[in-house]
Amino acid sequence: MTSAPPLSGPASEVLNRVFGYSAFRGEQQEIIEHLIDGGDALVLMPTGGGKSLCYQIPSLVREGTGIVISPLIALMQDQVDALRQLGVKAGFLNSTQDVSERRRTEQQFVAGELDLLYVAPEGLGVPSTQRLLDQGKIALFAIDEAHCVSQWGHDFRPDYLNLSMLHERWPDVPRIALTATATSATREEIATRLDLVGARHYTASFDRPNIQYRIVGKQEPKRQLLELLRTEHPGDAGIVYCLSRASVEKTAEFLVQNGIAALPYHAGLDSGTRARNQSRFLREDGLVMVATIAFGMGIDKPDVRFVAHLDLPKSVEGYYQETGRAGRDGQPSTAWLAYGLQDVVQQRKMIETSDGDFAHRRNLAAHLEAMLALCETVQCRRAQLLAYFGQDSSTVAGCGNCDTCLNPPESWDGTVAAQKLLSTVLRLQRERGQKFGAGQSIDILLGKTTEKITQFRHHELSVFGIGSDLREQDWRGVVRQLLAQGLLAVEGEYGTLALTDASSTVLRRERQVMMRREPERTKAPRARRAS
Ligand code: ADP
Ligand code: ZN
Repeated sequence: MTSAPPLSGPASEVLNRVFGYSAFRGEQQEIIEHLIDGGDALVLMPTGGGKSLCYQIPSLVREGTGIVISPLIALMQDQVDALRQLGVKAGFLNSTQDVSERRRTEQQFVAGELDLLYVAPEGLGVPSTQRLLDQGKIALFAIDEAHCVSQWGHDFRPDYLNLSMLHERWPDVPRIALTATATSATREEIATRLDLVGARHYTASFDRPNIQYRIVGKQEPKRQLLELLRTEHPGDAGIVYCLSRASVEKTAEFLVQNGIAALPYHAGLDSGTRARNQSRFLREDGLVMVATIAFGMGIDKPDVRFVAHLDLPKSVEGYYQETGRAGRDGQPSTAWLAYGLQDVVQQRKMIETSDGDFAHRRNLAAHLEAMLALCETVQCRRAQLLAYFGQDSSTVAGCGNCDTCLNPPESWDGTVAAQKLLSTVLRLQRERGQKFGAGQSIDILLGKTTEKITQFRHHELSVFGIGSDLREQDWRGVVRQLLAQGLLAVEGEYGTLALTDASSTVLRRERQVMMRREPERTKAPRARRAS
């Protein structure tokens, strides 16, 4: 983080007196002064970068109340409480309030007694709220989590589409839109949809140099996780993300049984338990929160030492956002993801069978593909991540702090293996009119005589046993990588394998397929510790 020029002026005065900080971070000062002068801004800053001050300080310096639009209703109370502790006059309006609380806040706003007012996006669409805002003085509009306006993003909220009306109705009020996650396409979309084309854009570096990115093959995920915690993060606070509520429960239990202080968090728990677990995680040292992705948005705990994913995130945006919760204090931290064939099959299946039109499914598939490409890359993970967000990654090519830099993976020519696997799928379909999942196809290649092989007479296929030169885990790697490269598809609710248009180029030997070699053992590199 760079520090700002000598401190003077109202912004610096507020930074000092109210927030108790001695210097601005990154571009905070430029952004804040631009807003104080009445300009519009679009701010892209990674989680923990210090976005809040960018609208809080101008709200305090400018006349009137800063209106903050945030989808994180559950956090508004906490945010407002934290501000009040600093002596800032803050309030919020959302559906969790009772009528009298709401009245009181409205009166305070009209009387000019609030510096900041947090509002849920759905609230702004209501005519009575719009009339209320007309009765007071507005210092600025801050649109937090602005990527929610992107229909193609991973976190679309329809209410955000209405926010372009802010500019129509209050053309003289400066606006600032903020997000921690946006590709260049999403950035354009935010600017267009929120009518911020003329706004000044500020893009902080998305690199989080203190986070060590690691993506490992999934064998026994809970054991692998335990090993990671015991060897590299004993006594550290961290977050473990699982896809389902059931696996959250099981994983938390497993960790507790193995002497790790872990708590569960998911939407199926009653709100009291959720609130209690969240506040324990924030206040106590060294707790591990096992959670679905329902947990974490807006959580500000500086010393989260690791974020572990036991299931594949659905998009690179999600992965970046979730891993970004590690190491906000700048100290070395680990982002660890265990990923395997089953993840790919399951997610492809979920997309296949999801509601929504073709365009929606194609969009989900594109997000998954980018995530898979990050998992399968033999290049620097950080460089790939930054390139995805449209940032210059040449400065970090070979960052020295990700698994592929620390332990360069071997790649091998998997063309023949790919042909064998694809031929198996083809033969099952052509000769037998059958479709099977990865497990049966691999058993055929390995020449295993299981009950299911005998039952379907698969030992009579010409491809039976032609893959015995590779191990089962190698074959799982082959299937996974073919899926990741779009050379193989997963269909229907049983997740059966099918050829794609591109498969034929491999079968006809027109193309070489390079693969990442499956490691013998997933030995984790040691996290670098600050000395
Ligand atoms: P974001 O919203 O971008 O994720 P926050 O606004 O929550 O980040 O800020 C992250 C942390 O950094 C907070 O604890 C905040 O108080 C702190 N912070 C922000 N700006 C500064 C600064 N100029 N000096 C010191 N700490 C700061
Ligand atoms: Zn690297």
